[in-house]
Amino acid sequence: MPNFYTEHPELRYHLNNPMMERICELKERNYRDKDEFDYAPQDYADAIDSYDKVLEITGEITGEVIAANAEGVDEEGPHCANGRVEYASGTKQNLDAMVKAGLNGMTMPRRFGGLNFPITPYTMCAEIVAAADAGFGNIWSLQDCIETLYEFGNEDQHSRFIPRICAGETMSMDLTEPDAGSDLQSVMLKATYDEANNCWRLNGVKRFITNGDADLHLVLARSEEGTRDGRGLSMFIYDKRDGGVNVRRIENKLGIHGSPTCELVYKNARAELCGDRKLGLIKYVMALMNGARLGIAAQSVGLSQASYNEALAYAKDRKQFGKAIIEFPAVADMLSTIKAKLDAGRALLYQTARYVDIYKALDDIARERKLTPEERQEQKKYAKLADSFTPLAKGMNSEYANQNAYDCIQVHGGSGFMLEYACQRIYRDARITSIYEGTTQLQVVAAIRYVTNGSYLSTLRDYEQVACSEEMKPLLERVKVMTDRFEACTNLVKETGNQELHDLMARRLYEMAAVCVMSHLIIQDATRAPELFVQSAKVYVNYAEAEVEKHNAFITKFNADDLAAYRK
Ligand SMILES: Cc1cc2nc3c(=O)[nH]c(=O)nc-3n(C[C@H](O)[C@H](O)[C@H](O)COP(=O)(O)OP(=O)(O)OC[C@H]3O[C@@H](n4cnc5c(N)ncnc54)[C@H](O)[C@@H]3O)c2cc1C
Repeated sequence: MPNFYTEHPELRYHLNNPMMERICELKERNYRDKDEFDYAPQDYADAIDSYDKVLEITGEITGEVIAANAEGVDEEGPHCANGRVEYASGTKQNLDAMVKAGLNGMTMPRRFGGLNFPITPYTMCAEIVAAADAGFGNIWSLQDCIETLYEFGNEDQHSRFIPRICAGETMSMDLTEPDAGSDLQSVMLKATYDEANNCWRLNGVKRFITNGDADLHLVLARSEEGTRDGRGLSMFIYDKRDGGVNVRRIENKLGIHGSPTCELVYKNARAELCGDRKLGLIKYVMALMNGARLGIAAQSVGLSQASYNEALAYAKDRKQFGKAIIEFPAVADMLSTIKAKLDAGRALLYQTARYVDIYKALDDIARERKLTPEERQEQKKYAKLADSFTPLAKGMNSEYANQNAYDCIQVHGGSGFMLEYACQRIYRDARITSIYEGTTQLQVVAAIRYVTNGSYLSTLRDYEQVACSEEMKPLLERVKVMTDRFEACTNLVKETGNQELHDLMARRLYEMAAVCVMSHLIIQDATRAPELFVQSAKVYVNYAEAEVEKHNAFITKFNADDLAAYRK
């Protein structure tokens, strides 16, 4: 029976990363739940064992149910009738299987019915679900909106809403409007306080909302009359049981057909404030989007894994000129490159997830007691690393998912263009990953200050001190030279003092930083588990070095007089 977890030992390798010990200790508060819940872990080994078991169950469901339904869901899609969404029949079976297995509200504390999972193993579940069906991955993964409600909602809201998500109800994040996409400061959906009923009322339209008929919605709305920027926005919880929001239509899309993308009409919908007024965009939506960006990075890695699986199987099977096409270096090159981007991108994803885990667990502890000065320092360090790595993980993995899906079709030749093969669905599904939750261009906007303020450079120099195997040493030396190039290019751009030139080079500097980071991570992985990662480390560093050289040539040879050629 196919199992999307056990078939890929790279996942178990990441689950056993040395940082997990600290993550478990913090998340489990030194394993205090063991006296209250018989299924809570006793110690670190027990915690890892329990994550492993849940991942195995998720792998089984994804292999046997979700993957089996994927094609039917892609064809049938959801329907809209009387303002409500009806999922495709396969989607309903998928949801049912996940709820029965208790895979909802996974990261929430046990007292609410959750599994108290750290973000890292939860993200692994999201990756394998997306590998089976990226569209269904959206519906299931939107459960992570509950993190934001847990972080910023009050006790009363926790007790009313979190148990429902743990029991299998679904969520959506309602941010985008026709005139507010990348620029969420322009959100105009109106929130007014209803004195008579002691609640807020929402009026307006939201567009492109994934799973827009969910049970619980987090909504960004304008609560401060007369304002036009982000400081007038607050975050609200809308409960479908209260009514007032209808689905006007479901979009007809290129990919992720199983995931209903809805236009929503709010008519006097009753809602309640989550957190404080005016912090909706500035604080809460930023937290919400950082979580969701990690989710899209996981979805992208899942899609890259699916591309690799399909391309490898086809290349072994298909014969031309009297031999399997995998034996042609041109085909093997494509396969090795897909695998290298998959392994390096996954390394970046889980490194980011681990950074998120540490700072979030410390944030949560800070709600119970004062952190020690050492803990405060640790919190600050990992919050910054998480913030700087999230746009790298999202942007790069989503671009790799697209490139890998493209190469997967190429390996299939003409058959890849035919609808009978899964690779065309993977290709269509991958396309959205570099657009939603902030386009790649917006990931660059989020990341660029970490280029200019030296954060990435300082992380890269720290990584140079991590011991590596003899076999990896020559690669590490090459990554040091790549980092020198990145540093020199950053300085060159900064020294011009020209903002337009700076903006033009931003994506190139971002990619230089990202490929250097991923090169280090894959070298570290190849040191710890050579049997899994040596090949990918070699292929990835060759690839990354060529990328750095390309950007280096562009930046160092660029003549500022040519800027006008880039204006339209
Ligand atoms: C299938 C799907 C599902 C979605 N799900 C949700 C959801 O669940 N909830 C939700 O709230 N939204 C959702 N969205 C909306 C999605 O997040 C937005 O589409 C996305 O953020 C881009 O906004 P836009 O479409 O308005 O494009 P625009 O903002 O108009 O961007 C157009 C182009 O301009 C570029 N651009 C814009 N601003 C800048 C800048 N400052 N610097 C450089 N380049 C820039 C962009 O990169 C892009 O190339 C979904 C969208 C789709 C298609």
